[in-house]
Amino acid sequence: MPNTLYIDGVWTSARDGQTREIRCPADGELVAVVDEATEADTHDAIAAARRAFDSGVWSSVPAAERGALLLSTATAIRERKEDFARAESADTGKRIVESRMDMDDIANCFDYFGRIADSQAGRVVDAGDPAVRSRIVYEPVGVCALITPWNYPLLQTAWKVAPAIAAGNSFVLKPSELTPHTSILLMEVLHEAGLPTGVGNLVLGAGAGAGAPLSTHPDVDLVSFTGGVVTGRLLMANAAATVKKVALELGGKNPNVIFADADLDAALDNALNAAFIHSGLVCSAGSRLIVEESIAEEFVDELVRRTEKIRLGGPYDERAQTGPLISAEHRDKVTAYVEAGIAEGARVRCGGHWGEGDLERGFYYVPTVIDQVTRDMSVVQDEGFGPVVTVETFTTEDEAVNLGNDTIYGLAGAVWTQDAGKSQRIASRLRHGTVWINDFGPYLPQAEWGGFKQSGFGRELGPTGLGEYLEAKHIYHNTEPAVTDWFAED
Ligand code: NAD
Repeated sequence: MPNTLYIDGVWTSARDGQTREIRCPADGELVAVVDEATEADTHDAIAAARRAFDSGVWSSVPAAERGALLLSTATAIRERKEDFARAESADTGKRIVESRMDMDDIANCFDYFGRIADSQAGRVVDAGDPAVRSRIVYEPVGVCALITPWNYPLLQTAWKVAPAIAAGNSFVLKPSELTPHTSILLMEVLHEAGLPTGVGNLVLGAGAGAGAPLSTHPDVDLVSFTGGVVTGRLLMANAAATVKKVALELGGKNPNVIFADADLDAALDNALNAAFIHSGLVCSAGSRLIVEESIAEEFVDELVRRTEKIRLGGPYDERAQTGPLISAEHRDKVTAYVEAGIAEGARVRCGGHWGEGDLERGFYYVPTVIDQVTRDMSVVQDEGFGPVVTVETFTTEDEAVNLGNDTIYGLAGAVWTQDAGKSQRIASRLRHGTVWINDFGPYLPQAEWGGFKQSGFGRELGPTGLGEYLEAKHIYHNTEPAVTDWFAED
C-alpha cells in the first residue's frame, strides 16, 4: 500500500485500498502510485483536525513558537530543495530550473509567515469610559480546508499552509490529484519539525471524492480554495449551508497593455514571458495582449517571429524554454479553445497545434498567437489556461482601459509606457488585484495577492493573507460593574 495519506499524525492508505497512478506529462512515464482517498478518509482527516483544534494543542502555543516552526520548515525545504524540485517536475513536467525557483519562493513564503506569526497581538480600543478595558484579540478560525491546483502545486499550498499554521489553526490539505508529491514531502517536513498530531492532515484524490466533504462538513470552519472559477462557484454554494468562511483564488484573463511610448524591447520580451512561461499555465498569465494601434503591426510581427522559436521540452532538456500541459484532457481543452476562436473568425498567426516528433510522447501544445479577434469572442473572454495569447488594438487611454477591464475576471494586468502619469492613471483604473507597470509577473510574499470580480475574494500573502486565518474577538471588560436600573420596578 502506498501509505501516502497523512491523517492524525500517521501515514496511512485509503480505507478502501484505491490508488492512482501519477504520470509525468512530459513523457507519460509512471512517476508513482499514490492513495486515492474517499470521502471516508477525508472525514477521518477532518475529525483529527477538529480534535486537535479543540484540544488547543497548537492554538495555545505562543505565536512566536509557531513562527519558529515555519522558519525551520523553510530551512528544511532549502536543505531538501533538489528532492522537492524533482518531485514537482515529475508531477507537472515543468522544467527543473523553474521548479527550483518555485522552491526558493516557497521557502521565502514560510520565512515570511514565520517572521510575522506574532504580529497580530490585537489592539486596545478606547471605550470612552475609564472603567472599561476594551480590546480586540485575534484567534485562529479553527479547522481549515486547503484545496490547491496543479499548476504551481507546492507554491499555492505554501500560501495557505504557512499562514494557517502561523495563526494556530488545524488543517486538511487536498492538493490536486494530478500533483501530490510535493505535498507529501511538505507533510514529512512538518512532521519532523514537530507539528503536533492532528494539526496538519493530507488527503489525496479527486475533487468529487476526497475533496467533497471539505466544503460541506459542519466541522470545517474555513475553505481556502485555489483553482478554476467553475469549481470555486460550486464550493462557495456548498459552503453556504454551514456558513463557512470562504476564500477563493480563481482564474484570470489578464490584460497586458502596451503603449507606443513604452520601452518596446522590454515590452516585447516580457510579453513573451507573460504568455508563454510554464506554457501559460499561470493564473496571472498575460493572455490578452492589448497594443496601441500605431505600433501593433510591427510589434505583433516580431512577437510571432520570436514565438515560433520557443523551444519545448521536458524537465531535464537543457535547451527547453517551456514544457508540456498537465494532461491529455487539458490539452484537449486548449485545442477546443483555439478551435472555437478559429470558428468565430479569429486568425492563428503561429502555433495552434500539438507538439510534434519527440514531443508526441508528452502533452505539448505549441505557443500560439491569435489576432483578428473581437472582444466578444470566447478566445478573448475565456481563460484558456495554455500557451495562447490574443491580440487586440486601441487608440486612446479610455479604450485601453475598457478592453483591459472587459472580462469577468480581475486577477492581474500590466501597463507598459514611459509616461509616469499615464501609467498611474491606467494602473488605478484597471480592476485587477495586481497591476504591474513596465513589468509582468513578479509577486512578493509581503504583498497581498488575489482577485477582483470573478477571480475570487480574500487575499493571500501579506498581512491580509495571515488575517484570513484569524477571527477578531472583542473583549469588553467593565472593571466597575454597576446596577443600571434599566428594568427598575415601579
Ligand atoms: P480545479 O478547479 O479543477 O481544481 C482545483 C482543486 O480543486 C483540485 O485540488 C481539485 O481536485 C479540487 N476540486 C475539484 N472539485 C472539487 C470539489 N467538488 N470539492 C473539493 N475540491 C474539489 O483547477 P485546476 O484545473 O487544478 O487549476 C487550474 C485553475 O486554477 C485555473 O483556472 C487557474 O487560473 C487557477 N489558479 C488560480 C490561482 C490564483 O492565485 N488566483 C493560482 C493558480 C491557479
